[in-house]
Amino acid sequence: MPCAPVGYTVEWPQPRGTKCPCPAPECDFKAGSENLLRRHFATRHPGDVFRVSGRIFHAPCELCGMQVSPNKMRQGHRGSDLCAMLRREREQARAILACQEAQSVEFTTPGLALGKVNEFRYLGRILSEYDSDHPAMWRNLTKARQRWARLSRVLVREGASPRLSGFIYLAVVQSVLLFGSETWVWSESMRLTLRGFHHRVACRLMGLSAHRHNGVWVVPPAEDALRAAGLLPIEEYITRRRHNLLVQVQTRPIYLLDMQGHRKAAQHPSHSQSVVGAVYYR
Ligand SMILES: [Zn+2]
Ligand SMILES: [Zn+2]
Repeated sequence: MPCAPVGYTVEWPQPRGTKCPCPAPECDFKAGSENLLRRHFATRHPGDVFRVSGRIFHAPCELCGMQVSPNKMRQGHRGSDLCAMLRREREQARAILACQEAQSVEFTTPGLALGKVNEFRYLGRILSEYDSDHPAMWRNLTKARQRWARLSRVLVREGASPRLSGFIYLAVVQSVLLFGSETWVWSESMRLTLRGFHHRVACRLMGLSAHRHNGVWVVPPAEDALRAAGLLPIEEYITRRRHNLLVQVQTRPIYLLDMQGHRKAAQHPSHSQSVVGAVYYR
């Protein structure tokens, strides 16, 4: 149940050298300026407002929720980077709050509280309570590392050329590494993690490794190692997999049927709108 908005009153300016504590109960935030306190309220206490004692009240912006002076509003606050950034932060704060509320729900059978799990496997893929694909990526990476550790020993022992080893790596290890990645929501850290593994493999195939020279760590250029091993950057393989999945979905008969149904519904608004497959249109 959302709480009713609360209005607080704060004293400003604060005594020299002290920060203003957030007036909301159970909040440890201390603001060094009034502007900072407004930003804090917009993201951490959405809906609540504060008034500085003895000054006029500034109404919150209807987009980002930050209390803005009429003068700033006239100067185009709504189109500013600050307003856009606060909107994003507010969305994140809302998502966290929704997650915390969901966590507080207890499921019971008669007389017995059911346990909770943070992650679980569904159709071979790890689903996380945070709606993040990080756990799925880490699981793939762990399996790929194990497989590569076993395989690389055999390749070295048999004296396989770097190019042949590169092909075997693509077929045997990378298929594990990128399993299910077609539908992941990629973050920068996920991309960098897999790129690091991919580069280390390329360097290993070429017998290169980071070494110390005159007290300085020298890391072999990954591009040269990739080229010599006949590998492309990991981003290229990720893009190809995603493209292949898209083609596969678009050529399925059910997709075409759904498209036709959707067009009919658009021509005749009384027809019920098809929901299945709506995600494929974009
Ligand atoms: Zn606060
Ligand atoms: Zn705003």
